[in-house]
Amino acid sequence: MSTIAAVSTPNAVGGIAVIRISGENALGVAEKIFRPFAGKSVAEMQGYTCAYGIACDGDERIDDCILTVFRAPHSYTGEDVCELSCHGGLYVSKRVLRAALANGAVSAEAGEFTKRAFLNGKIDLTQAESVMDIISARSEIELKMAEQLREGAAFKKAKKCSERLLALLSGLAAWTDYPDEDIPEVEPENIRRELGFVKNELSSLIKNYDSGRIVRDGVLTAIVGRPNVGKSTLFNALSGCERSIVTDIAGTTRDVVEESVRLGDIVLRLADTAGIHDTEDIIEGIGIDIAEKTADSAELVIAVFDGNCPLTADDLYLINKIKNKKCIAVINKSDKPQLIEIDEIRKNIIHTVYISAKENEGLSDLEKSVEELFEINSDSFSVASAANERQKQCIDNALRCVDEALEIIGNGEMLDAINVVIDEAEQHLLELTGEKITEAVVNEVFSRFCVGK
Ligand code: GDP
Ligand code: MG
Repeated sequence: MSTIAAVSTPNAVGGIAVIRISGENALGVAEKIFRPFAGKSVAEMQGYTCAYGIACDGDERIDDCILTVFRAPHSYTGEDVCELSCHGGLYVSKRVLRAALANGAVSAEAGEFTKRAFLNGKIDLTQAESVMDIISARSEIELKMAEQLREGAAFKKAKKCSERLLALLSGLAAWTDYPDEDIPEVEPENIRRELGFVKNELSSLIKNYDSGRIVRDGVLTAIVGRPNVGKSTLFNALSGCERSIVTDIAGTTRDVVEESVRLGDIVLRLADTAGIHDTEDIIEGIGIDIAEKTADSAELVIAVFDGNCPLTADDLYLINKIKNKKCIAVINKSDKPQLIEIDEIRKNIIHTVYISAKENEGLSDLEKSVEELFEINSDSFSVASAANERQKQCIDNALRCVDEALEIIGNGEMLDAINVVIDEAEQHLLELTGEKITEAVVNEVFSRFCVGK
């Protein structure tokens, strides 16, 4: 394999920039572009040691830097790795990289260092996927989930299931392939127990998948309500800026205004919409249609009501429309006397919170309601879980096969008929762990990465 190089730190100005070189000839490249002030030559340096010196390109001095040497297999990629830490200037780091490329290295592709770690058996595929999750984690829960994956929790569970299935398969094969030998028949009850175990384990891996997805990808959220209840004020309070126009003129918001905001551990992909009510105004009417559609397709509806007014026909229409969706009734204008018939709302909507969007009050109650509604708490993320659509798909497929096998036993059909489906389940698990996987899938996984990782 070629020797690759990339700047591993962000493409921005910072204290330090790291240029990473990995491959058979990593030390050879480093030897050419690094001159130590004192001590051993690069070729003589042991793994896990550093040297202080100058990064250069031929006779040209580029910058002072520190060289760290990792010797195969004790490195991130499993190959010889050299890291040059220089001043974190955009030009300096690019110049050092260019020197590496001029002296025998080639540009690393996105995720290529981690891909090599996977191909060299340093990490399994789910751990490789966790690397990008760790990098993109924006909250404690996201980091916790990524750490779970890095520690191999999902991998271990899948591996255990795959071993149990393999044991079943070899038992079945011995029995069907050598009918004349005196091999004890595999008891259907035994197979059922083993499949039951695998089913449980795999189901637990996808149980929290949706909560995890919501934490990672955010919740599609529509703020709806009749005109003038304070939807845009709430939208602005949540997004921390005056993004949506607020007036006391009904029908101000006509288009959908969108913004991603973080509420505690969850990101809401918020859409502020036009007030839903009967109108003769054509343009406003289009806005209202869109508002209704946005509410229909949202994963969460925040229905805003004016606590300072009794409920109107438009409010009742809205309650009826959304009561079967995941929704929170937000009673706004808590700074004013409350005239709203709250019981009427509570009869239909479980989660109700009082806020004053104008005074920024009650937003933490809204946060709590969202977390309750989506069952987001740190406990749900301390168990192993599928971390992305690829893993979820592999587990779903394996589960489908396990169910099929259970059904075959349930129907008292020939046991050799289940060989095929158990084997298929096994294949899906091997794909999950990356033990048996096509190059296309590997490339797809690593294409999500950034260069230098
Ligand atoms: P929208 O039509 O639902 O988007 O409502 P807006 O956000 O445009 O607000 C309508 C009016 O209600 C504006 O005059 C706001 O200042 C006012 N308003 C919004 N939230 C509050 C609140 O919490 N308390 C009070 N007193 N007035 C509010
Ligand atoms: Mg508005």
